[in-house]
Amino acid sequence: MTSSACLFCRIAQHDVPAAIVLEEPALVAFKDIHPQAPTHLVIIPREHLARVSDASTGHAALLGGLLLAANRLAQQLQLQDGYRLVINCGPQAGQTVDHLHLHLLGGRAMRWPPG
Ligand code: AMP
Ligand code: ZN
Repeated sequence: MTSSACLFCRIAQHDVPAAIVLEEPALVAFKDIHPQAPTHLVIIPREHLARVSDASTGHAALLGGLLLAANRLAQQLQLQDGYRLVINCGPQAGQTVDHLHLHLLGGRAMRWPPG
């Protein structure tokens, strides 16, 4: 299912322009428009799920596919010194786009705990 009202569904459908770096049958990755690190990609499933908390056991392959795509992209981008994967879930976590997405951040030292 996709939603014409959803920004990330529209990016996946090429209705809204984005710097897409990876397109696969089940997922799309593109550059974050407000990068928080030298490398900042957003990896989304083509299937519209508002939040990771909406995933069920039937979404196991979809969820694993996001992580494996992140690893492949990190290897391609030579982030061998490390990278951070983030999923914000809900308003208190700072989720601003209600389409499940995995942030891939790299190219600088990261702090912990995150803000
Ligand atoms: P989150 O705050 O976890 O929901 O992440 C949403 C991310 O999407 C933010 O880092 C935004 O900068 C990014 N974003 C919003 N609109 C666009 C867009 N049109 N193209 C690329 N990234 C976007
Ligand atoms: Zn969507």
